[in-house]
Amino acid sequence: MFRVIYVKKNEQVNILGTLFHNKTMSETVNMVMSMLRQDREETAHIITANPEMLMIARSEPTLQEVLAHADIITPDGIGIVWASRILNTPIKERVAGYDLLHNLCEQTNYYPFSVFLLGAKEEVNKKAAENLSKLYPNLKIVGRKNGYFKETETDHIVEEVNKASPDLLLVALGVPKQELWIYQNKKRLNAKVAIGVGGSFDVLAGYIKRAPLVWQNLHIEWLYRLLQEPSRWKRQLQLPKFMFCVVKEKITSFRFK
Ligand code: UDP
Repeated sequence: MFRVIYVKKNEQVNILGTLFHNKTMSETVNMVMSMLRQDREETAHIITANPEMLMIARSEPTLQEVLAHADIITPDGIGIVWASRILNTPIKERVAGYDLLHNLCEQTNYYPFSVFLLGAKEEVNKKAAENLSKLYPNLKIVGRKNGYFKETETDHIVEEVNKASPDLLLVALGVPKQELWIYQNKKRLNAKVAIGVGGSFDVLAGYIKRAPLVWQNLHIEWLYRLLQEPSRWKRQLQLPKFMFCVVKEKITSFRFK
């Protein structure tokens, strides 16, 4: 089947085997908006990948396959930007999933696209949808569904999404569940673009606070998150492991020059 290639090879940056799209936030928004305007044969899959996702992929071949087939992979997390600099292939800037979501929704002032919210707990999903429609009155919310369903219910959920036929499908099931879900279903989904948005609905609903700008600018958003949800400490251990792998790759590349 004909597949539109959105990112040229020389616009990609390889970080531990994953090819990131080296575009600014506004370039990425323009690219996604053009995908939302087109009729597509297959749902375009956008992944906002952070160091934790790359570390999971190292031991999960299925996630590696998902990453290899994504239409766009954006650098979500300063760790990715840091790695790109260490590896001498600097990425322009961080394109975090939560910011991408807002920047896309802002575009509804010019092109009012439709969206389906899949994921998070029922009250979180509902509140996130309410808050999104208050923030972006031109955004057409054509459906929503919480993310606590059995695998056997997937066919029914795909049917529900397809009946709503959204331009954009936001999937908040956590990493890597959401990436796998989109990959496994994208051939039969009637949505132009699907993005895994992790904990974004929790932030939109007001259940979790995004780090204030000062923390973001100091690149310690991860610490703010850890203070809010100390149970995430195990997951955050992936960050030093990721840094170690990047430095190791750098040293290996010197040895073989
Ligand atoms: N979630 C869900 N179904 C599941 C597991 C998780 O809908 O089976 C939701 C969860 O309620 C939360 C989001 O997925 O809203 C995951 O948030 P997290 O901050 O852990 O995202 P990540 O850091 O993995 O991107």
